[in-house]
Amino acid sequence: MAMTITQTKLEEIKAKNPVIKDIMNFKNVFWINKSKPKFEDAKIDAKFSYADIKDAEDRLERFAPFIEKKFPETANTRGIIESGISEISKFKKELEATYDVTIDGSLMLKRDDTLPIAGTIKARGAIYEVLKHAETLALEEGLLESKDVNYEIFASEAFTKFFSDYNITVGTTGNLGISVGIMGAALGFEVIVHMSIEAKQWKKDLLRSHGVNVIEHNTNFTKAVENGRKQSNENPKSYFVDDEHSVDLFLGYTVAGNRLKQQLDEKGILVDADHPLFVYLPCGIGGSPGGITFGLKHVYGDNVHCFFAEPAHMPSMLLGLETNEFDQVSIYDFDIDGKTGMDGLAVPRTSGFVSQLMSHFFDGGYTLQEKEAKSLLTKLIDIENIPLEPAALAGVPGAAHLFGTTEGKSYLEENDLTDKMKNATHIAWATGGSMVPKDDMEEFYNQGKNL
Ligand SMILES: *Cc1c(COP(=O)(O)O)cnc(C)c1O
Repeated sequence: MAMTITQTKLEEIKAKNPVIKDIMNFKNVFWINKSKPKFEDAKIDAKFSYADIKDAEDRLERFAPFIEKKFPETANTRGIIESGISEISKFKKELEATYDVTIDGSLMLKRDDTLPIAGTIKARGAIYEVLKHAETLALEEGLLESKDVNYEIFASEAFTKFFSDYNITVGTTGNLGISVGIMGAALGFEVIVHMSIEAKQWKKDLLRSHGVNVIEHNTNFTKAVENGRKQSNENPKSYFVDDEHSVDLFLGYTVAGNRLKQQLDEKGILVDADHPLFVYLPCGIGGSPGGITFGLKHVYGDNVHCFFAEPAHMPSMLLGLETNEFDQVSIYDFDIDGKTGMDGLAVPRTSGFVSQLMSHFFDGGYTLQEKEAKSLLTKLIDIENIPLEPAALAGVPGAAHLFGTTEGKSYLEENDLTDKMKNATHIAWATGGSMVPKDDMEEFYNQGKNL
């Protein structure tokens, strides 16, 4: 991988920074973002605003009739792709026992593992980007007269035939490909998905069953993306969904902020200065935790506290932020092996634009061990009967790490939150799972059982 900072600079960073040493030794790190301004200040400098979030919300509303028609499983939300939230109090007790901490406040799970169509959090950003591209093409080519018509028309033969002349390409560890592939194919596009070495067989099979062209690579995520991008750029009718640079992908995720507020309101859960909200988000390239945090901050300001969660063996966002080098460093520069079973998070280098933006919005982040994720996966099935895929477990121990680390506790003290935590709501974002085949899930379950 091309290294963009000098060896001298790198040695300097490693030598003078004790957190980097811990990261390099695969230790669990709970990291506080010391350079984060107040939300009201951060928002002024940000390159996106509430208007961008609203634009994405409106677009998803326009497409809802199309989605409802093509995917009847979305009928009860009238074509809006959204998941529920549920309290997991029994599991909270288990967390407290396992980590030997008291977790003040209630613990909930955001069930993106049950999102329709794709069964992962990618259904937010990736599907949004595909829809936006389809709308743009249809407007440009005069097929769609205005944004005011009923978008059910996107399911018509004329539209499907029109899109079949165009290609959508993507590079992925698996889940991004599923969302792009299924929605792209539903619109009529030719879709090519470049899969990195982590990608599971069932994901390839699933995509092929939708008529998607899957290209398998024996290389990591960054390389699979490079290959896909190159091939796509050679074809003028091809559009590349670029996980590292895509603004639309990011904006698709931001919509979750308002939606979550609605859900909490319906449950009578208050969020304000005396009732803080803590959210723990699994982080790969950074788009989904970044976009959701951005959306939530625009709803709740500084009363929501957002932490990204990464495997100790794949801490690309953490390194990007801690060094202030963003996408100019990868885990390999720090001799980190990248060996993780949390395949949805297997990204060795973070997104440059997302990490730079989020250095002003993330409150912090933490890493967790492979064993931790595996054992949590099994316990969540045993106690709550909720089967998640490995990546989705990263956010689950967040509250235990917050209360169980010196850094977490001092975050609460410095922000005058210690006394308010009895009123807090913790939300672990469960990012995927419902589409994992039974046999694969059984294997995950047994791995955690046998620890
Ligand atoms: C992609 C993914 C994530 C992380 O999202 P990024 O945008 O890559 O940070 C988390 N969980 C699952 C299941 C995923 O597929």
